[in-house]
Amino acid sequence: MTHRLVLVINGGSSSIKLALRKQGSSKPVFEAQAERLNTPQASYSFPGGSECSLPDANHQDALNALLPLLDAHLDQPISAVGHRVVHGGEQFTGPRLINDEVLAGIEANAPLAPLHNPANLSGIRAAMKLLPDIPQVAVFDTAFHQSMPPHAFRYALPDELYAVHGVRRYGFHGTSHQYVAHQASLLTGRAETAGAWLSAHLGNGCSSCAILDGKSMDTSMGLTPLEGLVMGTRSGDVDPNLHAHLARTLGWDLPRIERLLNRESGLLGLSGLSNDMRELEQARAQGHGGAQLAIEVFCYRLARSLAGLAVALPRVDGLIFTGGIGENSALTRALTLSHLAVMGLHVDPDRNSALKRGEAGRIEATGSPAILVIPTDEERQIAEESLTLLDRQHLEMETPA
Ligand code: AMP
Repeated sequence: MTHRLVLVINGGSSSIKLALRKQGSSKPVFEAQAERLNTPQASYSFPGGSECSLPDANHQDALNALLPLLDAHLDQPISAVGHRVVHGGEQFTGPRLINDEVLAGIEANAPLAPLHNPANLSGIRAAMKLLPDIPQVAVFDTAFHQSMPPHAFRYALPDELYAVHGVRRYGFHGTSHQYVAHQASLLTGRAETAGAWLSAHLGNGCSSCAILDGKSMDTSMGLTPLEGLVMGTRSGDVDPNLHAHLARTLGWDLPRIERLLNRESGLLGLSGLSNDMRELEQARAQGHGGAQLAIEVFCYRLARSLAGLAVALPRVDGLIFTGGIGENSALTRALTLSHLAVMGLHVDPDRNSALKRGEAGRIEATGSPAILVIPTDEERQIAEESLTLLDRQHLEMETPA
């Protein structure tokens, strides 16, 4: 069987990232990105190449410059373009072949992700224009969590806010949670998606998830990616009355409060130093009190979230760490697990610290449920989901009704 090629595109508000992936492979064939789009400093770069300036380039200009770079890496035509889309609302419960209806749906969900969905759309429109003959697939960050039951996704608010205005918990990082849970099943010798997993995606954004037999049962992020865990610069959960309190006592308006909670809080706010876990670990080792507190709050709140999510599962087969922090910070894993003995989870300190960067591995002590460290690969998941969708549609077209 030939292993097909998929171009994965992640359009951000001022950037666009490209990854050429071969089916079944854990490594990209080629990657490139353009940054600072729509500014005089716009540029693109790729591993092994020097940065090239593209003054005032928009998403389409950037793609125009980047696509010819793929040519040297193509041993066959590209079978699909897979786009990461942040918010699919309730409409999109899985990947979709992009057509006018899907484009309108992504646009309709933009109020729920005003920074992300319009940027994703810019990437999609540019790719559709430049690669009109290749099927384009949208893979949604929220889709995996559409399996959550109402008791997990509803807020205790008047029904109208949900029914008319779509105010509910959606969850994000679905592509990552789905990918690592699948890998955990394979790594522990189970069938494809079998198992009851807790997963912690810890990068600049952080979320936790309870997954049963390949389905999300609950997750820490909500209507927006601000709810839940402490993150790099995001506060995670705070008292919902904080907005009113700050408005009343300090006279702050909504944009000021949004900036506080999204950009000035989390590890950065607590430490007064940095949003970067590596930097905080170094500072902690040198006795920096703020760094120590930030790491302690991060780990305690993560453990509390994971223990809470366990009630969404009939049992816990294991816990998965992923994302830049989850994959690389033995300290974060150890401190988090120090709060989870109540669940029978115990780490083997030697295994935890011996794990090499980029490697998957098991770090539990004897007798503990599995504790896995699994490098996430959202692009691979997007590529595989795009191909699976195309194959299914192909089959449906061939099978008479
Ligand atoms: P991501 O958004 O998944 O790229 O993750 C970024 C986060 O991972 C940042 O807070 C980094 O400091 C953190 N990170 C990456 N490598 C390490 C490491 N070796 N030790 C601790 N944190 C790390």
